[in-house]
Amino acid sequence: MSALPDAAVLPGDPGAGAGTAAFEVLAERVRAGGVVVLSGAGLSTESGIPDYRGPSGSLRRHTPMTYQEFTRDPLARHRYWARSYVGWPLIDRARPNDGHRAVAALQRAGLVGGIVTQNVDGLHQASGATGVVELHGGLDRAVCQACGAVEPRASLGSRLRAANPGFGAGPGGTEVNPDGDVELADDALAAFVMVDCVTCGGGPLKPDVVFFGETVPRDRVGRCFGLVEAARTLLVLGSSLTVMSGYRFVLRARDRGIPVVIVNQGPTRGDACAAVRVDAPLGPTLTALLRRVGAPGAAPS
Ligand SMILES: [Zn+2]
Repeated sequence: MSALPDAAVLPGDPGAGAGTAAFEVLAERVRAGGVVVLSGAGLSTESGIPDYRGPSGSLRRHTPMTYQEFTRDPLARHRYWARSYVGWPLIDRARPNDGHRAVAALQRAGLVGGIVTQNVDGLHQASGATGVVELHGGLDRAVCQACGAVEPRASLGSRLRAANPGFGAGPGGTEVNPDGDVELADDALAAFVMVDCVTCGGGPLKPDVVFFGETVPRDRVGRCFGLVEAARTLLVLGSSLTVMSGYRFVLRARDRGIPVVIVNQGPTRGDACAAVRVDAPLGPTLTALLRRVGAPGAAPS
């Protein structure tokens, strides 16, 4: 399908692979332009946001709430919002890392033509990237399940603080999950007061994110397929591609003969589709990549 060498893997090179064969193929593909990025949780771990499935994955001790639970069970919804209320400041405080900044710089240099992210933390946009497609939505807003009104999280946060003076996590309740929530004891949950939609006066609010068990809106998926099909390279950054939601774009690229390049710590479900794979930390690798392709915006070494 292309003149690329067989998949080459760098096992956890602390030097982020600069100078190795796999890294050089990565640089060559990016320098050629037309890159579409598909990013996942691994890109945000260096910003302090944990990864469900990465090396410090939390999936084993934290089962994410499903869409069915959230929409059908008022108690589950209450629990979600109480935890989210306490966990949100930790997400809100997170800042873009070197990896996000490198992607934004590659976009400004015209080498990255599209960014699809599975992350709901808004850190691509905070780093200056534009036109980011949030495949799984964003935590920075809530949507009313009755009337569809969208409320910024900051506004909802103010209303929640007013309704819950003095409410907090208490001891031990500060470990945030990737969905932006924390574990809370039952008595703390019972004391939490949730607020409803202000637009229609009572509709239940849902964070504007795609829950486990929920379908990504069809038009959003279509936009992503459009980006991928027009790409010269699909560059996967920090995703194990475990969920079909993101993996299907890798399959589509493979089917169209579009080279797939993966930078991730650890194996991914898409490895068999990859022209090349760099197994190394994202921030240092992407910073080195930026320098290698000579894009403006590279931090001085
Ligand atoms: Zn409403």
